[in-house]
Amino acid sequence: MNRRLNSRRLEGRVLLWLLGGLAFAVVAAALTLATSEEARKVATTGLVDSMADAAEGFMTQATPVDAHALAPNIYQARGVSNTHLIDTGDSVVIFDTGLSIQATRQKRALEELVGEKPVSHVILSHSHQDHVGGTQFWAEAETRIIAHREFTEEQRYLKDLEPYLYQRNRRLFPWMPEEPITRGPLSFGHVVPTQTIRNGEPYKFSQGGFRFEVLPTPGAEGLDNLSLWLPDQRILFVGDTLGPIFPQFPNIFTMRGEKMRKPMEYIESLNRLIDLNAEMLVPGHLAPTRGAQEIREGLTRIRDAVQYVHDETVKGMNAGKTVWQLMEEIQLPPELALSQVHGRVSWGVRSLWEYYATWFHYDSTTELYPVPVRAVYAELGELAGVEALSRQARAALAAGEPVKALHFCEIALATDPGASAALEAQRDALQVLLNRARMGFETSYEIIWLEGELEMTEAALTGPSPASG
Ligand SMILES: [Zn+2]
Repeated sequence: MNRRLNSRRLEGRVLLWLLGGLAFAVVAAALTLATSEEARKVATTGLVDSMADAAEGFMTQATPVDAHALAPNIYQARGVSNTHLIDTGDSVVIFDTGLSIQATRQKRALEELVGEKPVSHVILSHSHQDHVGGTQFWAEAETRIIAHREFTEEQRYLKDLEPYLYQRNRRLFPWMPEEPITRGPLSFGHVVPTQTIRNGEPYKFSQGGFRFEVLPTPGAEGLDNLSLWLPDQRILFVGDTLGPIFPQFPNIFTMRGEKMRKPMEYIESLNRLIDLNAEMLVPGHLAPTRGAQEIREGLTRIRDAVQYVHDETVKGMNAGKTVWQLMEEIQLPPELALSQVHGRVSWGVRSLWEYYATWFHYDSTTELYPVPVRAVYAELGELAGVEALSRQARAALAAGEPVKALHFCEIALATDPGASAALEAQRDALQVLLNRARMGFETSYEIIWLEGELEMTEAALTGPSPASG
């Protein structure tokens, strides 16, 4: 972890621990002592607001909260992720509830537009914490909480692996608070749906003259994806089914980790969305897309691109090609060109390969045993010499092969972690990759990862700081 992040680590951890503990104690007291539902709400919300303010202060790029109308009676509260409200007259329906530390502010911003009304349904697009964080602030005794049948299992494993996944996520989303909030009302993992929807069985209901269709759309963002379709308004809320911008090549499986998804199920989901012929497409992050033609064309291109990458990967596997060859070779044809800012075709190839073939690549007997090639790096570096390896890294870099250069650097640095020639070659190789990423697909996760690695290499070059632990 780099020093800039380290310097605030202890502070952040202490603050969030205190907030979690404080919240737990005070909310418990408020719930016990409050004599009316109203008093309970006020006590909880006021406390949550001050906790949220404190926690949000540790986020360096929190998208500010505001709310606006998307269509008559249909509202969006913006923030890190969006919360949606459909005003059905006497009550409201909520689709997604935002990040916990922004949820009460999103709720208040929406209530400023429509007033406080009973909540008949909360519909959750999936179990990620940026989409379910405010559920408890919206849900009342009579509220139906609708989620996918896989929601509970997805939430379970995300919670069980929270310490592991959180630190991985922070490498890719460096604006997140340093530690997860693990206790109290802002913590993740306690949403209990009252009604679940299974694949192939959409759920339709009417409320105050509005017709709603909750569609299971498993795929790019999880096995538990739901979309919400308003057939009369032709508005489609998709959560993260398509990722944050539209259209783009999706994360078939994410770089940050999480379980595999079924690619064919995703293609079926996309087919279902195309058939709706939506006039407005509302994602879980960022702004809606309007216009039936643009939406249909974008969805069709995403579906065809995923199908193409899938089919080419399968074809290459059957032809006996390695995953590395296929990552290099498979590219989208011009008619299927899509932004790869979020998902990346070469990573899609690799994850499809591993989805079908899993962990044993048949490359080497050593893959069967817990002794990775890195186990011999230090000795290899002794034999070759750190200087010679650093020169070899430079030569690879000069030949336009920065990844090969990184391999040489990693062997050299296993032998001598402070070797400046190797660190300098590593820094330059990372810089070449970063330039290529910025000039090429601009994949955000790749760029953030490379920036983090570069920062750590530069920190190693300037030596340990007295402040770092
Ligand atoms: Zn999200």
